[in-house]
Amino acid sequence: MNEPLKLYILSPHIDDAAFGLALTISKCANNNIPVTIINCFTVTKWTAIPVENKETIAVSLLRKSEDAAFYKTLNENIKIVNLDLLDAPLRNGYIFQEQPFQQNELDLIEELKNLLEQMVDGLLLCPLGIGSHIDHAICRAAAVKLYDKTDVLFYEDLPYAKRISHQQLELHVKKLEEDLGVSLVNNTDGLLNCNIDKEQAIRLYKSQMNEEISSEIIAHLNDLKGERIWSEETLLNKLRTALQK
Ligand SMILES: [Zn+2]
Repeated sequence: MNEPLKLYILSPHIDDAAFGLALTISKCANNNIPVTIINCFTVTKWTAIPVENKETIAVSLLRKSEDAAFYKTLNENIKIVNLDLLDAPLRNGYIFQEQPFQQNELDLIEELKNLLEQMVDGLLLCPLGIGSHIDHAICRAAAVKLYDKTDVLFYEDLPYAKRISHQQLELHVKKLEEDLGVSLVNNTDGLLNCNIDKEQAIRLYKSQMNEEISSEIIAHLNDLKGERIWSEETLLNKLRTALQK
């Protein structure tokens, strides 16, 4: 008998899994698929709006509490793991990748790859790394290193994916296909059978949310009529089959 499927979502920051995959995560968890969120760069003082206490410890705690509240509204069985790595502004002082990985970033990729190798015994959903945020690029690079041993699928980073054209997105995926040496197809899981309102739910990330970000995420959802995942056909089928059980 096959082992029941488990799903792991690699989230560079505390909100990325939710912004990219809220509905997918909700559906999976409600279909009794064990879901674990792996938040990577959770030591942070990054907020999209001004907050009362700007210290790293306070902001990191605030963001974790927003995350816990979000997943609780989805399904109380969802597990959250915070790896407590320093985020880019605290680490190197820049956010966007404009040069090859630096040595400390290569070390982080290796560390993350090793951690994931120990933790993941199921499907791993990783961000495509759209938008050149260095923390997203590190996550993707770690997943690429794991690719031969692990079932990796990719989701669209939001709001970044809304800020590029479909052609640019396809070029981005093409580059990833070259890195992996495989063909990727995509599937958009429709809005049927969703029992959460994504717009309402993502607003629980109050410190990360403003009108622009919220409307970009929801516009992308409406453009696609769902959340799009890219992977090899066989892996998409595994996820589909698990969702139909
Ligand atoms: Zn992020």
